[in-house]
Amino acid sequence: MTASRDERRMTNSVCALGIDVGSTTVKMVGVDAEGNLAWHLLEQADPRVEDQVERFLARAPCLSPPLAGGMKGRLFLVATGYGRKLVRPAARQVTEITCHAKGVYRELAAKRGGTLVDIGGQDSKVIGISPKGDVTDFSMNDKCAAGTGRFLENTANRLGVPLDRMGEVALSASHEVSISSTCTVFAESEVISLIAHGVAVEPILRGLHRSLIKRVVAMIRTVGLAPPLMLSGGVAQNQAIPRMLEEETGEKVILPRYPQLMGAYGAALIALEM
Ligand code: ADP
Repeated sequence: MTASRDERRMTNSVCALGIDVGSTTVKMVGVDAEGNLAWHLLEQADPRVEDQVERFLARAPCLSPPLAGGMKGRLFLVATGYGRKLVRPAARQVTEITCHAKGVYRELAAKRGGTLVDIGGQDSKVIGISPKGDVTDFSMNDKCAAGTGRFLENTANRLGVPLDRMGEVALSASHEVSISSTCTVFAESEVISLIAHGVAVEPILRGLHRSLIKRVVAMIRTVGLAPPLMLSGGVAQNQAIPRMLEEETGEKVILPRYPQLMGAYGAALIALEM
């Protein structure tokens, strides 16, 4: 999902909604009475969060009659993500860690748990999930762009490679250039210098992906890896990320059908239980 707006309706009945106000994108998901993903809407984040939330609610399918307004007129809406506190119509605000774990547990890990890596635009997290679906431990990086979508985006921009081709181009490299800077700003300068020395785009891009994956693997070590190893967040759509995560950990990586929607999906599942 790299378009500025992506909307899809799978079934007619929407019983509860979840919204994930991320630093890069805003996602809203509707679920049916069984908790299946029934509708979603994704847009790039607008700095006027409250206006954007109103627009999302105006586009959301009507909640099905027996449930809408059931709780004294309260919306069956749970908000998560970095901007969740600005979603005033929400009945509850819940952390991204809980919501991603909830969504992915339902999609991939029911009754067995596992380790979830969520890589978003400006943060990344590793979450341990128990066989009952509880969060057992987590590690979060929201202080530094290294290890996030922003790191790859900024540097790929410099290389003139579009976002949705970064993974494919990185994987096409026959060798890899090691990038020593972990900071995004220094990595960008390093990339400029490599290009000036005639190094090809593909091995540089592969090296940048390696650098991101190594940051993530360091976080996995602090939480511990209990298979299955699962991946969510927008960056999971970059095909080089699961492949290189498998190379670094020796563990198979599994993905939900809509990795970028898992936070909003988990929020909608919580709203359904209200
Ligand atoms: P947040 O919740 O923090 O706003 P998301 O989980 O929506 O972040 O992820 C946004 C990031 O996902 C973007 O910064 C972008 O780098 C990355 N991304 C989205 N789609 C793709 C794609 N098709 N290929 C590579 N990266 C992608």
